[in-house]
Amino acid sequence: MKHICPYCGEKTFTPVQKALCGGMSSAGKPCSACGGRCVNGKASLIVNSVLRLIALVMIIVTYFVHTTKAQIFWFGLLPLLIAFAAGFVFDMFFGRLIEAIKRE
Ligand SMILES: [Zn+2]
Repeated sequence: MKHICPYCGEKTFTPVQKALCGGMSSAGKPCSACGGRCVNGKASLIVNSVLRLIALVMIIVTYFVHTTKAQIFWFGLLPLLIAFAAGFVFDMFFGRLIEAIKRE
């Protein structure tokens, strides 16, 4: 399963390569066929924003509710790691690649 480049229409991006393209605000990664720089589109932006927001809320709640170091680790750090990992997996398998807007 490969993702389609928005410039040339060729299936040039593997799931991991697609995830590494980053979001709409990043410079993106070049297509191996045409060299056009691609980023993950709006679906990725929304999903990643929501995941990070949830993680942030959990961290704030943790700050007020939990006191021990173990609790702070499990409830304060883990949600952030899960949010980034889940966002990466989403980018690997879902959403479309779009042309990078940002110029180098
Ligand atoms: Zn291409």
